[in-house]
Amino acid sequence: MGVAATLSCTNCEYSQHVFVGIGFRCLDLRSILEWYKPEEGREQIKAFMREEDAHVVCYKGVYACEHCGYLLNEVYLHIESHTQSYTNHYDCPRCHTMMLEQPFQREVEIDCLNCPECEGGKLDVSCYMDWD
Ligand SMILES: [Zn+2]
Ligand SMILES: [Zn+2]
Repeated sequence: MGVAATLSCTNCEYSQHVFVGIGFRCLDLRSILEWYKPEEGREQIKAFMREEDAHVVCYKGVYACEHCGYLLNEVYLHIESHTQSYTNHYDCPRCHTMMLEQPFQREVEIDCLNCPECEGGKLDVSCYMDWD
């Protein structure tokens, strides 16, 4: 079960809707393959489906760019088996740095983020519905 939330800055006009958490289609590789788009990740999913002990972590999260503070609401995908592991990554749309940190998915974590648009602004999080 995930949560839809609105992030809004206490200091400027910035506001963004985000979806975070784990949906029922995130629980196994076969269902992830039904909606997961990036080709590189799809190849990885198919490869791991042939492994006996593949374990997947997949959820919608908020990536915070370490370089410029940009917030990107995207899917985190991490798969591992006893022989290999794969983690997806995104480039920051604003400064093109690769975002290597695992994204935030819990309200308390997102609540600690700084505003990506202004100096010193803090983000308020208000959750407005559940999704699955
Ligand atoms: Zn702000
Ligand atoms: Zn950036």
